[in-house]
Amino acid sequence: MTRGGPRLLHGATVAGEIRAQVKKDVLAFKRRQGYAPTLAVVMVGSDAPSAVYLQQILRSCRNVGIHGRLVEIPGRVSAAALRNRIAELNDDPLVAGIIVQMPLPKRIPLSAVTDTLDPAKDIDGIHPLNAGRLELGHPGFMPTTAQAAVELLKRSDIALEGRRAVVVGRSNVVGKPAAILLLRANATVTVCHSRTRDLAAETRRAEILVVAVGKPGLIDGGMLKRGAVVVDIGINVVGERIVGDVDFESAKGVVSAITPVPGGVGPVTNALLLTHLMRAATEQAAQTSTPRRRLRQAAHH
Ligand code: NDP
Repeated sequence: MTRGGPRLLHGATVAGEIRAQVKKDVLAFKRRQGYAPTLAVVMVGSDAPSAVYLQQILRSCRNVGIHGRLVEIPGRVSAAALRNRIAELNDDPLVAGIIVQMPLPKRIPLSAVTDTLDPAKDIDGIHPLNAGRLELGHPGFMPTTAQAAVELLKRSDIALEGRRAVVVGRSNVVGKPAAILLLRANATVTVCHSRTRDLAAETRRAEILVVAVGKPGLIDGGMLKRGAVVVDIGINVVGERIVGDVDFESAKGVVSAITPVPGGVGPVTNALLLTHLMRAATEQAAQTSTPRRRLRQAAHH
């Protein structure tokens, strides 16, 4: 938009700030409790793209001193056996948070995971209780990707109040919670999806546009309002490259600010997940009836 091109909303800076705080929180937790909190990462089968994502999460955990535990479950697992495994993690006092790789094998209903997870350990906000809390504006865990999109805008000093925001995508994990969070920030929100009659007419009205679809190039420069701020959540593998849902080349001459893909929302998502884990760990440590000495012994075995 400006002669030098749009402002790029890089996630690395925001993610770095968030991680620095998490590191301090982990140190304080360890000093107090005598052990590191654990994030259990459940991998069902060996789906390559999400395996890469899960490895990234485990690496981020290590970097801030959180113990990441990879729980590998064969892809042929039954829904009942998966429920049992999650229930075991729910009961493990060392495990503060649990995330489960998506998508699940087709045979397994999503509810086998969402309804089994202990809401107190559901740090990515997929349990119906946490989804309801988000909707009602009550404290709980919210889906990190949606939170990251809005957090990136807020920490980049982009005003949201009273502004016309359009979200493209209405999944329970990304689009819908992003719309709720924008509404909470007092934006005027429109949600678009695959049945929206004239997508371009909607997106052209957006001062803030958040796109979470999973289709490369779905939104091009001709569909954008001049000076709009665009958050591209999409992650698509095209040949050797990772691209978003917005055609960056045609968008960059129109918008005032845009997230790069990769390097926009992704790093913030990752960092926020760690903050959720620390919150879960702190809340559970305050409530558990298991003596701290026993937890320390178990952690060091
Ligand atoms: P889903 O497939 O669950 O949802 C896609 C949404 O896009 C649906 O609501 C669908 O509409 C809508 N849609 C599909 N086609 C169109 C179209 N032509 N026009 C308008 N809307 C359309 O995907 P997710 O929400 O899980 O993920 C969305 C994207 O975000 C993906 O690229 C994913 O990889 C990425 N992602 C990024 C993360 C990050 O950290 N950056 C983390 C998680 C996801 P309908 O409901 O009508 O079917």
